[in-house]
Amino acid sequence: MKTYFIQTFWCAMNQADSEKIHMLFLQAWFIKVDSWKKAQVVIFNTCSVRQKWEDRVFWMIEEIHKYNKNIASEKNTIKVWITWCMVRKTWMNKKYLNEAIKRDKNKSKKISLLTDKEWIYNYDDKLFPRNGEKLDFVFRIEETKYMSLMLSIIYQESIGQDDKFDDYLKSKQYRENPAQANVIIQTGCDNYCSFCIVPYTRGKEISRKHDQIIEECREAVDWWAKEITLIGQNVNSYGKQFVAKKLWNNEKSQWNSLEWVSPFRKLLDWINTIEWLDRIRFTSSNPHDMTRDILDSHFECNTICNYLHFALQSGSNKMLKRMNRKHTYEAFKDQVMYLRKIDPLFSISTDIIVWFSWETEEMFEETVKAFQECEFDFCFTARYSVRKGTLAEKMYPDDITSETKAERWNILNELLLASVTKRNQLMLGRSEEILISWEKDEQFYWRTRNFKEVFFEKNMKNSIGDIVNIKIDNLDNFVLQWSQI
Ligand code: SF4
Repeated sequence: MKTYFIQTFWCAMNQADSEKIHMLFLQAWFIKVDSWKKAQVVIFNTCSVRQKWEDRVFWMIEEIHKYNKNIASEKNTIKVWITWCMVRKTWMNKKYLNEAIKRDKNKSKKISLLTDKEWIYNYDDKLFPRNGEKLDFVFRIEETKYMSLMLSIIYQESIGQDDKFDDYLKSKQYRENPAQANVIIQTGCDNYCSFCIVPYTRGKEISRKHDQIIEECREAVDWWAKEITLIGQNVNSYGKQFVAKKLWNNEKSQWNSLEWVSPFRKLLDWINTIEWLDRIRFTSSNPHDMTRDILDSHFECNTICNYLHFALQSGSNKMLKRMNRKHTYEAFKDQVMYLRKIDPLFSISTDIIVWFSWETEEMFEETVKAFQECEFDFCFTARYSVRKGTLAEKMYPDDITSETKAERWNILNELLLASVTKRNQLMLGRSEEILISWEKDEQFYWRTRNFKEVFFEKNMKNSIGDIVNIKIDNLDNFVLQWSQI
């Protein structure tokens, strides 16, 4: 029996991609295990958005390397594969792999694509030379189609069927929880925010075809999904490539234009008609591509939940400009207020970076004001760390100590706790519908339609996938507590 373990870092996109990798391994008859020590192949689905996650990957690679040293036979060592954001470009292709097979006469040696700097794009940023020799396989997600070939090389037997995985976006995902499905609708990013590595790692925006997405959603519902999360780097610019550039830019110039119907809204309308589907969510959205038709979908499509994650990053317009964000704080705030005016319980979460590019006290104060005005239901606050290869690396030094960064980070987290507590109080005494999605430590767990987390004791009556009515009768910081009706 062959075993594998996947460690996924950070975002919803990576989670969805890992589901595809899971499926590939399962279809190749590997067994999923819950710790790297039990696995023969360990895959790190990496994230470069924060330095700490890259460091974590390096640390884990080192740990496995030490562990492997005590294993007598090379054949039994744990193979380490990595993919996604730390892998900018491998230039790997079938031809190269076939040549590698020919070169490696006994076909048992480790095939590393990283020892030869010709094959790696990001050699210059000194990312991989640090650990290259400790890795067995490095691939971009589009190259999953070569994974079964790679497994066949490593194990010297035919494993998996290549042609199943020819189009990464079409390949199936493994759903641990049948009640929920993540459906990728778009990949890549054209925005080039100055701090962000994503456009370099994930490339240009590509939207999947409408029909493919609908089919995948229908199939997920046929297989018991009640909640679908549409995933992409910029879901609300879905379909940009299908619309003339001029039209796209003109029609969207005012976010509250009543004329514009975006391709994303059309997609939402279609998915909303799928019978038995109870909830649609989507992430991530960008304020500068947000339009009124999409905001209105939350109120006009009965399955779309009253929750939205969109990233503000800073409350200072000057800072937003340095970040090469294409929105202003005022436009963002107007959108928040628009949603909350129609539905005061509408939940909003966002992303903020503190201490980007010598953020002044005045700029930070504007972010504090944004927190007070927008009353977020959740926020991912990050202390800026420079990402190699980004515009910001070339233009702005990152020479602020982590202690200083922590001060602002703490202030925002305190404000967040205050706003979450205030917002959660609006939920007290309400009757809410919960889709039970997980069970852990004798508790059921999931969220209200507006994405508030709820735990409750397991019972014999209910199981995962059930929709139950509950009464919110207590609060515990970010979590709601309740008794079942
Ligand atoms: S919109 Fe900006 S922050 Fe988001 S993925 Fe694209 S470049 Fe990165």
